[in-house]
Amino acid sequence: MKFKTFIKLFFLIIVIVGAYAVYNSKFFERNPPEVEIYMSINKKDRVELGSEAYWNPNKKIYVSVSDDTGIRSYKVSAVTSDNVVVFDKEEIVLDKPKEKAFLLPKPEIKLPDGIKIHYKISVTDWSNANFFSGNTTVKNLDLIVDTQAPIINIVANSYKITYGGSALLIFRVVDNGVRSISVSNGENDFKVFPFMKEGYYAVILAWPVQNNFFNGTITVLDKAFNQKRVSIPLIKDMSVRYRYSSIKVKDSFLNGKLNELVDTVGERKPESFSNNIEKFKYINETIRHKDEEIIYKAATEINYNSLFEPVTFSAFLPLKGSVVVGNFGDHRTYFLGKQKISKSMHLGLDIASVRNAPIILSNSGKVVLTELLGVYGNTTLVYHGFGLSSLYSHMSKFEVKPGDEVASGTVIGFTGQTGWAFGDHLHLGILVQGHPVRDVEWMDPKWIKSNITDVFLKAKNTIEGINDQNKTEKY
Ligand SMILES: [Zn+2]
Repeated sequence: MKFKTFIKLFFLIIVIVGAYAVYNSKFFERNPPEVEIYMSINKKDRVELGSEAYWNPNKKIYVSVSDDTGIRSYKVSAVTSDNVVVFDKEEIVLDKPKEKAFLLPKPEIKLPDGIKIHYKISVTDWSNANFFSGNTTVKNLDLIVDTQAPIINIVANSYKITYGGSALLIFRVVDNGVRSISVSNGENDFKVFPFMKEGYYAVILAWPVQNNFFNGTITVLDKAFNQKRVSIPLIKDMSVRYRYSSIKVKDSFLNGKLNELVDTVGERKPESFSNNIEKFKYINETIRHKDEEIIYKAATEINYNSLFEPVTFSAFLPLKGSVVVGNFGDHRTYFLGKQKISKSMHLGLDIASVRNAPIILSNSGKVVLTELLGVYGNTTLVYHGFGLSSLYSHMSKFEVKPGDEVASGTVIGFTGQTGWAFGDHLHLGILVQGHPVRDVEWMDPKWIKSNITDVFLKAKNTIEGINDQNKTEKY
C-alpha cells in the first residue's frame, strides 16, 4: 500500500468515527419530547386524554412535556370543525427545562355545547438533530364542548325504606355522554340495572342493619366530568327495633359441637387453640366473617348487560307450615359465666317445620352457590334478578347445583342442622347486592306489592306513556 493511500484511509476512518460519535451524542439526540395531556379529577386522579374527549372549558387540561435536551418551544393551535381558528400561539422557552407543564389554553371566545375543536400541540426540544431545528412531537386532540351537567329524574320509588330493609328506585338520566352512574346509601354502593329503555335505570336498595343511617344519593358523572348529585326521596323509617340478646355458652357446647365445627372447617386442629374462648371467637367471628365474604362474593359477581323488564316477585315462603325460631337483626352477645366472650349479628331468619323438610323455591332464579360453609353449613344461594338473591343454610341435602336455572316451586334441597345449628331448621337470608335485609318484607305479599310490583308498574306506565306521546307527535 502506498503511503498516500494509507493517509487517505486513516483520515476517512477518523471522519467516519467522528461523525458516528457526534451523531450519537446528545448534540444530535433524536428522541422527540414526551407529551402527556390529562385532566386532574378530584385533585388526585389523573385521567389521560386520548385523541378525543368531551370538555367543559371551565375544567383545566394539563399538558406535561419532558425531554433530555430541554424544551425549546411549544405551539398550540385550535380550530373548529369549520376551520375557524380560535387559538394560535407559540412560546419559546429560553431556560431549557427538562420538564415543563402548562395549562391547555382555552379558546378566547365562548363556544356552544356540541362544537368540536381540533387542538394541535407541537413541542420542540433543544437537540441539534434535523439540521439544528430539534425534534418535534405533535399531538392532535379533538375536544367536544360539553358544559351541561347530567339531568337526573326520579321516575318511581318505594314510599319508604325501613332500617334493615329494602326499597326500589327507578330513575332516568339525560346526558349526551354518561361516564358513570353511582347509587349509594351513604355507606355502600349499588349497581344500577338498565331498565326497559335507554337512559332508564332500576335499583333495589338496602339499608343494612349494620349501618346507623341511610343517606341515599344518585351521582352521575358525564364524559366531560360534569357531575350531578341528587338525593333519593325515600322516607326513612327508624321505628323498627332489633333485639339485643345475651346467650350463655354451655360447657357441653365448648367441649362438643365447637370441636366438630373446627373439624368441619379443617383449617386448624382443635388442640391448636390455647383455650375455649379463643376457639369460640375463631368460629363465631373469623369463620362467620369468612362465610359471609363467600356469600357476598357469590351474590355480587353477577354479570348483566341487557335491558331489564319489570319482575313480579312472589313472597319468599320456602317451608310449608313453618314457625319462626330466630329473628333477623338479633345482636347476640355470648357469655361464659359472667364474661362477655364474643358478639355476632344474626343476618337472616330462622324457620323450622319438620326434620328434613323440603325447601321450596318461591321465585325462579339461577343457582350461584352450593357449598359447605363453617357456620352456615350446607348453603345454597339463588339469584333472582335486580341484585336480589335468597340464601338457604344448614341444609341436610342439596338438590340443585351452581349454574342451574330453577323454576319457582322447585325443591332445591332439604333442611338440616349442618354448620352451627341447634336442631333442624332453615336459615333464610334475603340479600340485596350481597347485603342481608329484613326477610319479613320479602315474605309479605302486601309489602312486595306496594313497594316493588306497583313501583315497577308505575315506572313502566310512565316510560311507555312517553313512547305513546312520541308516536302521536310523529303522525
Ligand atoms: Zn340463622
